[in-house]
Amino acid sequence: MDVSGLVFDIQRFSVHDGPGIRSLVFLKGCPLRCPWCCNPESRAFAAELLVDRTCCTGCRRCLAGCPSGAVTVEPDGLGVDRLRCTSCGACAERCDSGARRLAGRPMTVPEVLAELLRDAPFFRNSGGGVTLGGGEPLAQPEFAEALLRACRSHGLHTAVETCGHVPWSVLDRIRPWASLILYDVKHIDPAAYLATLGGDLGLVLTNLERLAGAGAAVTIRTPLIPGWNDDEEIIGAIAARARRLGFCDLHLLPFHRLGQTKYDLLGLPHPFRETAPLTEARLRRLRDRAAAGGMRVTLGG
Ligand code: SF4
Ligand code: SF4
Repeated sequence: MDVSGLVFDIQRFSVHDGPGIRSLVFLKGCPLRCPWCCNPESRAFAAELLVDRTCCTGCRRCLAGCPSGAVTVEPDGLGVDRLRCTSCGACAERCDSGARRLAGRPMTVPEVLAELLRDAPFFRNSGGGVTLGGGEPLAQPEFAEALLRACRSHGLHTAVETCGHVPWSVLDRIRPWASLILYDVKHIDPAAYLATLGGDLGLVLTNLERLAGAGAAVTIRTPLIPGWNDDEEIIGAIAARARRLGFCDLHLLPFHRLGQTKYDLLGLPHPFRETAPLTEARLRRLRDRAAAGGMRVTLGG
């Protein structure tokens, strides 16, 4: 039987997240809880309903179609009682206006591959390929490996974005099928990492050492989060650690608020709603500090 995974988006014609023109496959579920995440619909390991009342026409087809009595009538459109909602998606199927959308659908490897291969000529002409992201794509290891192998069997360049917070056994089995690993080192202080993300930085750094030992092609990525890690000492220490391990490329990813609306559509609070992006001058200082140790540093990625 074909392996299937829970996919919440496939984006075509991206020029980020790896070289050339790429298609990005977003897998659902993540072991971390970054409060600035620009894909909040990626974090849960199950499908989730997004409701955009600004698009609601008031037709009430969703109300009649919900088997759980979870559709609510609000003054500004039809909403959802999230305690009752089972994320079955019946209302989204009936909603023609785009006011209701389910994030996360099971897809088999051949289904995803068929979509990806439509753009194979663009990949070939641009030196691009396919990138698995999320969420944390390696949290669905069987599917991720099967998809990467299928892509490679068609000669496609493959990249994986990972937070590194997975067992080494998973990284080790994925590694041969990934042309490039985009690896997050979000902080250098285990206490800050645990307190904010709920994760074990030691696991992430040990996995990174093992990837270095295995000779994997790795680009380090660090989000620059105002008030959390936008500090020359922290960024300098991350760059120095990466350099010591023999890695050359560091992408610094400036904080932005582009995913803010999705928090509203999911009915979630957005702790960074009022946080201003870093200034150009601040970004340049952080970039220069990271580059001082000999890393090739890119702002963005
Ligand atoms: S089906 Fe869509 S447009 Fe119609 S009432 Fe429900 S949310 Fe609004
Ligand atoms: S996803 Fe299913 S349970 Fe939730 S509101 Fe829509 S129809 Fe009802």
